[in-house]
Amino acid sequence: MATAVYPGSFDPVTLGHLNIITRAAQVFDEVYVCTLVNSGKAPLFTRDERVELIQRCTAKLGNVYVEAWDDLVVKYVKKCNARIIVKGLRAVSDFDREFQMALVNKINDDDIETLFMASAAKYTYLSSTVVKEMARYGADISEFVPREIIDDVYERVERFKRQAGD
Ligand code: ADP
Repeated sequence: MATAVYPGSFDPVTLGHLNIITRAAQVFDEVYVCTLVNSGKAPLFTRDERVELIQRCTAKLGNVYVEAWDDLVVKYVKKCNARIIVKGLRAVSDFDREFQMALVNKINDDDIETLFMASAAKYTYLSSTVVKEMARYGADISEFVPREIIDDVYERVERFKRQAGD
């Protein structure tokens, strides 16, 4: 049985992420999506909220499981009895960081392989940061995030703006 892990911050999950999850679910028997803490960024959604948002958007995919994780990704891969990490590549700009992470993960655990999936052309521009910026200015984000979570994103961005006194 081929099991893959798709790690990321998913703050929030975008249509680009969902495209990778859907395609991975067609290629692998099981896909475990894990939401990580990104120490460099203050998140819009908590780790558990991000899990719930992804679960809502992947409810129809019977072989996709979503969990939060706050330790090394390779440990999560082992916990899932998997050997494969799937990552999406949007452009050359993703490559340096992803290649570095793949090598570090290989040093952490040589059994684990990272496989890269090319982003769908129509989502190469898309990132969670773009979504947050657009939502902040009230732009239409229906081309960016799954419809199930559009209201959550607007609501949370508005709450942050109020708290910041903007
Ligand atoms: P972001 O860069 O949007 O904050 P994450 O850290 O949550 O993304 O990304 C998790 C994984 O998803 C990474 O492998 C990243 O390259 C990939 N990814 C992010 N956005 C897209 C997209 N639009 N299309 C394909 N892959 C993507």
